[in-house]
Amino acid sequence: MQDFVYNGNPGRVIFGSGTVSRLGDEAERLGAKRLLFLSTPEQVGQAEDIARHLGTRVVGVYSKATMHTPVDVTSDAMSVVEKLGADAVVSIGGGSTTGLGKAIAFRTDLPQIVVPTTYAGSEATPILGETENGRKVTKSDARILPEVILYDVDLTMTLPVSMSVTSGLNAVAHAVEALYARETNPIISLLAEQGIAAFAQALPAIARTPDDREARAKALYGAWLCGVCLGSVGMALHHKLCHTLGGMFNLPHAPMHTAVLPHAVAYNASATPEAMARVAKALGVDDAATGLFDLASGLGAAMALQSMGMPKEGIDEAVEQAMLNAYWNPKPLVKDGLRQLLSNAYEGTRPRRA
Ligand code: NAD
Repeated sequence: MQDFVYNGNPGRVIFGSGTVSRLGDEAERLGAKRLLFLSTPEQVGQAEDIARHLGTRVVGVYSKATMHTPVDVTSDAMSVVEKLGADAVVSIGGGSTTGLGKAIAFRTDLPQIVVPTTYAGSEATPILGETENGRKVTKSDARILPEVILYDVDLTMTLPVSMSVTSGLNAVAHAVEALYARETNPIISLLAEQGIAAFAQALPAIARTPDDREARAKALYGAWLCGVCLGSVGMALHHKLCHTLGGMFNLPHAPMHTAVLPHAVAYNASATPEAMARVAKALGVDDAATGLFDLASGLGAAMALQSMGMPKEGIDEAVEQAMLNAYWNPKPLVKDGLRQLLSNAYEGTRPRRA
């Protein structure tokens, strides 16, 4: 067996159906008496409904959470935190809302309770990606890691099929890259394989029957596993490229991950045969890159970055940015290879089998 280092992140996880009713008890455990709820504009009604049950313990609902965590939104939210004297934040939503809670916690060290309603997995990581002037900058810090995650399957039942698929593939990307991360270890690899398998089973079932509660529970469980993977080991080409693309062109996060993943995997495949075999096994196919492409496209996901608003000249700009930003990857980064990868993702072509 290879030597390894395993770093476990602390955190309390409550998983089930109807668990959101335990928010008050969790706030009590944290000693929090002035909760600020966070949401996107689309989920403000849901956040207000949940907040209402907590009475005077809630001091407000801030509902301007935005994808890619722009720092101007965080500054605005910070003024609300200070004005209301909040002593904890409760994030009700997907990665965008969790991102805002993390950005506040990074600046204040306030405790966070996250109630995830997508499969992004951000709730299980000490990572924050903030965007300013078209650049997404990522930091990792213990203050960023949420104290409590309350997974309530009931709140995911409304996630539309298209978003379920792309959000699920975003989570799968965490697990795939964890399998070939520099810091990979046997525990995280187990979680990664289980996480990928959970989505390979759950997503087709959700696409067939969106209110399949068992499938929804399996997907949410997969989200946690995949989030733990992202939070525990370093990432590589796929995540770094998506950060570059997200920051430069403001592409929708989960759909962009879905379109890029098969190509990033195809790029790294020859350098990571063991990880590829584990991904393929978890998907129940014989090739990781084409298996990921077929899973996503078969469930109706858009596979071409051009359909998400990426300009064609953006391919070269993104290659330049990606090369500037040195980071570890199992296979050396080569300009021509990256250009080919991004051209394929731009066009949405099926990758070649390894
Ligand atoms: P999102 O949070 O932007 O949500 C997309 C839309 O879906 C929003 O309008 C939201 O209100 C709505 N929505 C969420 N849950 C719903 C539900 N159950 N029913 C109906 N509508 C619902 O999307 P996302 O993909 O979860 O998050 C993307 C963001 O998360 C990006 O900014 C990304 O950088 C970040 N992220 C961070 C990490 C990390 O570890 N730091 C990991 C993954 C994603």
